[in-house]
Amino acid sequence: MALIPKIEFTDSKTNWSIEIEDIGTTGRNKKNPNKLNYNKTYRTCQYLNCSNTIMISRLSGLCDEHDNHQHDLFLTLFDEKGGKVKSPRHDVIINNLIDWAKSRNFDLLPFFSDCSFTILGNIPDVSTLSKEVIHNNFIPKTLDEYLKICIETVNRHFPETNNSSFQMLEIKNIKYPARVLAITLVGLLLVEESNRGDRWFWREIVKDEAKTDFLGAAMPIAYFAAMNFPWGMEIGKAAPKFIPSGK
Ligand SMILES: [Zn+2]
Repeated sequence: MALIPKIEFTDSKTNWSIEIEDIGTTGRNKKNPNKLNYNKTYRTCQYLNCSNTIMISRLSGLCDEHDNHQHDLFLTLFDEKGGKVKSPRHDVIINNLIDWAKSRNFDLLPFFSDCSFTILGNIPDVSTLSKEVIHNNFIPKTLDEYLKICIETVNRHFPETNNSSFQMLEIKNIKYPARVLAITLVGLLLVEESNRGDRWFWREIVKDEAKTDFLGAAMPIAYFAAMNFPWGMEIGKAAPKFIPSGK
């Protein structure tokens, strides 16, 4: 099993960068949520070069050995000097972006709507990206090309031409440019969608997105939606309960 090649994006003005690497089965690789045998046509495992027989009623289309993805994408953030920084979790990034946006009357909703429209359902799962599960009439782009699509979302809402994109936000004594937090967030959305999502499969391969069963990157966006709602009261310590379990 070859790992998905590592990719990197450096933000030219801030010199911060993110790296997305495949840690294979050493991380917390997840079950492949796709139902490759949704129309009950296969009697053998659909993992590349595997000839294990499966029950025709086994909707995953995968044998026990290949039930889990053999890949797990992991994001690392580097500061302007190239030092490794522990990437803040998506909910921490979202909380901080919301506080920052409020203080300057900036509407974050268009950015998150664009993330939802542009990213959800457009990023294949890790087994497809690694070409260990092959779908008829579909050739995946490289991970780098998928990341570019995500970065374009950031460019539309945190443009390099606007100084506000570079305002600093402090999280646990580390100062991050707003744009870098947005880049980290879209990177995390890509990773989440690819490691855990099934929306791409149902939309792109089956052409029936309504069958999507896993939140994937809809989870962080749902968290933003809950946190951004004008509740008219303080959510306080109950906020983490807005993070859907994601199934
Ligand atoms: Zn197999």
